[in-house]
Amino acid sequence: MKINNAEILCVGTELLLGEVVNTNAAYISRELAKLGISVYHTSVVGDNPKRLSNAVKSALNNADLLILTGGLGPTYDDLTKETVAEALSLPMVRDENILREIEEYFASSGRKMPENNAKQADVPLGAQALKNRTGTAPGIFIEKDEKVVVLLPGPPFELIPMFEEFVFPKLREKSDKFLVSHNIHIMGMGESEVETHFIDLMKNSTNPTLAPYAKEGEMRLRVGALASSEDEGEKMCAEMIEKVRNTPVGEYIYALDAELIEKLVVDLLKEKGLTLSCAESCTGGYFGKRITDISGASKVFKGGFITYSNEAKIELLGVNPETIEKYSAVSPQTAEEMAQGARKRLKTDIAISITGEAGPDPDPATKQSVGTVFIGVSTSEDTFSIKLTIASQRDREYIRRVASSRAMKEIIKIIRKK
Ligand code: ATP
Repeated sequence: MKINNAEILCVGTELLLGEVVNTNAAYISRELAKLGISVYHTSVVGDNPKRLSNAVKSALNNADLLILTGGLGPTYDDLTKETVAEALSLPMVRDENILREIEEYFASSGRKMPENNAKQADVPLGAQALKNRTGTAPGIFIEKDEKVVVLLPGPPFELIPMFEEFVFPKLREKSDKFLVSHNIHIMGMGESEVETHFIDLMKNSTNPTLAPYAKEGEMRLRVGALASSEDEGEKMCAEMIEKVRNTPVGEYIYALDAELIEKLVVDLLKEKGLTLSCAESCTGGYFGKRITDISGASKVFKGGFITYSNEAKIELLGVNPETIEKYSAVSPQTAEEMAQGARKRLKTDIAISITGEAGPDPDPATKQSVGTVFIGVSTSEDTFSIKLTIASQRDREYIRRVASSRAMKEIIKIIRKK
């Protein structure tokens, strides 16, 4: 049989009470997506046999695959296995091998197995028990009447290794689809503007799909293709990515499948053998912090200046006092002189500066509104600046984060041109 769709049913009153966050459902959903299995429904049910039994029966009516998590423990309220066996009309049988394994598990930590743990060795007739290497409750894999039902222990540190080792490979054999997905990273164009270029494509594309996700001044377009082979899926994605590149949004793409933008900056600098420095005002060292979060940044990042006051800009970076006097500390002219100063003093190939109004109250001396940020860029060939207008109702943290990300995007652009 082939599996096309699935339901996930997580068992546990603590999940319904909000005491435990249901990370298992998210994990399983992500894994099933990789297998091209569509998850139609995810639900949570408490430790109540009647409601659990109803949920199991309803799921089995709708889906080829049902994955349950939790309630496999030895205590009286752990009812999942018994309830599922009953719903499938399967008797329970004791598996002596599993019983031995559980006894050994206890013996390995110098304990004797409590009597009630023996019930963890009971499996529905014909089912396969999945070894639990990090706990006692075995998982259960049942195939019956063209349906697959998988029972997994609740604790994620037991569930994840079991899923990786046994469940994923078994389901791989039973799904003939592959989901291939890629992320296109866009910065510098507003979310709604990006969407205007793709609204028809997004609405009309069912495979591959194109879905937008906005996050802190940047946007990600996720391209996902469901195909009968990985190669075919890659080809479908590549065609869609090409379509996106050929729109006006194309020039705002800074990466494909990037992890962190700061990592991309460090990697690209290393690749080209270039060095970087920075001069920060409103970000107060945030740019440098993010770059130095990346291990190995010392090979490319020489350092930076936190020049918050005008005096520091003048003394540490050599900004002309008249520039500040005439144009203010938050101006393209000051940003450019800051970047130049950092580059010359730290002798780097590229320097970046960030000066702006992080709010919440604007500084009357700069005559700039909150959210206005200038990024200066200096290389041996050129010095220039760009102006950002970041939503002023956002807090300081947001403005700093977006400003430092945009500075990183400018660096990427420069490095790619070199
Ligand atoms: P055990 O062998 O530990 O008894 P079990 O299968 O009986 O495993 P539960 O008793 O249902 O599992 O849950 C044990 C713990 O696992 C919960 O207290 C919780 O910390 C975690 N857990 C259970 N379900 C989830 C879930 N859906 N997402 C994240 N954590 C979970």
